[in-house]
Amino acid sequence: MSEPLLAVRDLHAWYGEGHALHGVNLDVFRGETVTLLGRNGVGKTTTLRAIMGLVRKRTGNVTFNGTDLIGLPLHRVARQGIGFVPEERGIFATLTVDENLILPPVVAKGGMSVEEIFDLFPNLRERRNSPGTKLSGGEQQMLAIARILRTGVQMLLLDEPTEGLAPVIVQRIGELLATLKKRGMTILLVEQNFRFAARIADRFYLMEHGKVLEGFPVGELGAHTELLHEVLGV
Ligand code: ATP
Repeated sequence: MSEPLLAVRDLHAWYGEGHALHGVNLDVFRGETVTLLGRNGVGKTTTLRAIMGLVRKRTGNVTFNGTDLIGLPLHRVARQGIGFVPEERGIFATLTVDENLILPPVVAKGGMSVEEIFDLFPNLRERRNSPGTKLSGGEQQMLAIARILRTGVQMLLLDEPTEGLAPVIVQRIGELLATLKKRGMTILLVEQNFRFAARIADRFYLMEHGKVLEGFPVGELGAHTELLHEVLGV
């Protein structure tokens, strides 16, 4: 098998004295969609934040596309081609859709033009002059993803992209992620909506107590129903 695009080895992370990650191991291969599952507080968000370097107190190895991300300053991590969409979305609420797209966090080679973004997100084109505050939750989520796509990333880390969204919008986000996958995007996401995760993911990692308990492909969901029931209650 080829080298993983993202390899995480024995990742520990702390908030002050609070030891949140206890040695996370995971791989994401190019073009895959991988979902982190687990109950509240097990360290899913912290895993994404520690990969990006947003939790500074961490040890272990994080390799992206052959580059060690641990020790790189935050702005250099973003330039490696990996982008993070936080649960709170990270758009400029007082700026319009257009302005949010014109002012991406980083502009790199291979980033999508604003017109390409609007072709992918026609609803954002219709709302291009609306400020972030006037957008629905789904539109805000799409704008947050769109801003990261402007930067030319090869890999997206998404934290609960369907949180608080109506089923029809959840479906739209699922279609969008499927389109991005077809274009070769690699995706690691945290998701509480198990049905959504089961529809879009190639593989899962189940987390408990700041560690990965088990990893398995979507085809083996049936063999893991007891474990999922025990750990997630689904
Ligand atoms: P959730 O779905 O509730 O976000 P999670 O699996 O993503 O859960 P994390 O948010 O990564 O879990 O939290 C892991 C642990 O770290 C929890 O014990 C949490 O209380 C703690 N934690 C998270 N953020 C902070 C913070 N900013 N300061 C201190 N402790 C934190």
